[in-house]
Amino acid sequence: MRPSCPLCGSEAGLAFTKLGFDYYRCPCAFVFIWPRPSGDQLLEIYLRDGQEYWTTEAMMRFAFSPTKSSREIAFLRRFRSSGRLLDSANGGVQAIDRNN
Ligand SMILES: [Zn+2]
Repeated sequence: MRPSCPLCGSEAGLAFTKLGFDYYRCPCAFVFIWPRPSGDQLLEIYLRDGQEYWTTEAMMRFAFSPTKSSREIAFLRRFRSSGRLLDSANGGVQAIDRNN
């Protein structure tokens, strides 16, 4: 059974599998994991990949480095068509803070 897109309701097709999760791509371009991880799985993922990963001293220096933010902003500018950027709960906000 192919899942329906949570944004538009169209039928989505398998795009790729990563770390044991199947990612589906909708004709509207939205990509999402299906089946959706349970609450317990999400908690485990956030603890493992969030709290335990992002709080090491080396990672904190890397993640909040102005050099890293500048590289990310330059990368985004290469692919934007125009307008403003909306980053929806996608990790650190240092790049957005740097450019409003
Ligand atoms: Zn869609």
